[in-house]
Amino acid sequence: MKAAVLISPRNILQRPLEIREVPQPQLTPGYLLIRVRSCGVCRTDLHIVEGELPPRGDQIIPGHQIVGEIADGGTKELPAGTRVGVSWMGGVDGTCWYCRHGLENLCDSPVFTGYSVNGGYAEYALARADFAYPLANTLGDLQAAPLLCAGIIGFRSLRVAEVKHGERVGLYGFGASAHLAIAVLRAWNCEVYVATRGASHRQLAASLGAAWVGKETEKPPIKLDRAITFAPSGNVVVAALSSLRKGGVVAINAIHLDRIPEFDYDHLLWGERQIRSVTNMTRADARDFLQIAAEINLRPKTTVFPLDQANEALAAVKSDSIDGAAVIVL
Ligand SMILES: [Zn+2]
Ligand SMILES: [Zn+2]
Repeated sequence: MKAAVLISPRNILQRPLEIREVPQPQLTPGYLLIRVRSCGVCRTDLHIVEGELPPRGDQIIPGHQIVGEIADGGTKELPAGTRVGVSWMGGVDGTCWYCRHGLENLCDSPVFTGYSVNGGYAEYALARADFAYPLANTLGDLQAAPLLCAGIIGFRSLRVAEVKHGERVGLYGFGASAHLAIAVLRAWNCEVYVATRGASHRQLAASLGAAWVGKETEKPPIKLDRAITFAPSGNVVVAALSSLRKGGVVAINAIHLDRIPEFDYDHLLWGERQIRSVTNMTRADARDFLQIAAEINLRPKTTVFPLDQANEALAAVKSDSIDGAAVIVL
């Protein structure tokens, strides 16, 4: 089968992914063989391909927002031919303290799709059957892909920030995740304040119903109940914190942050303001979000790339040169 393979991580402009023929994965018990139709491109893929996340093996096929149909290994719940989605969490051990306490997103021995096992930048992918989610027919192949990481993690961020219906919520950064989160927030009648670099992202936010848009660290005109930061920048975290009412929460949705600068505790954190991080996702987050996405008819904005242009897709994510989400189609 054809796949985009990472052998040695380096700057995306040096085209680290090699498009080549590799053996099709062998089906093993408990797994599904999935014929991939589309695979979303995530900023985490960029961290993997450029080596900010250290390699877990000699080579890897990235991609953890897989949409495809079950080609082999179907089960009673997921028979052959079913269209399923696979996300970043490709499996957990089920036995560690976190798994036993309903916190599988924090599992000590997680499997990460497209990082510790091969992912969806390929014609076929293998996935654990209990970590594949059936997709509603209303979610098309292109639309469903960005929902599977960007969407689910964005939704988990709303949960971690404890967003309630009708609240004032700040989104700092407006890439793939935020532009899906805003749809859920609008469905919950929240007022959304978006601070982001790049005029086109601000325009997109306004067109998707933001009450206010501003630059990366600009202050919204009101105090926020909740803020979610998506930019991998500690300055943005502090900017979000400085816009929070007492008792408010900042949830950091970034797997990697440059650093958090020194900030003034008395004015920014005292008053029971909280900073939390968002880490991975649970299967419940995935199922709940995919159901909401189908209910509110969520239609992510996507830009399509063929598998041959996987490097170009990642470069576009890096340079923020596309609105919405990049999706590789097969
Ligand atoms: Zn575990
Ligand atoms: Zn991701």
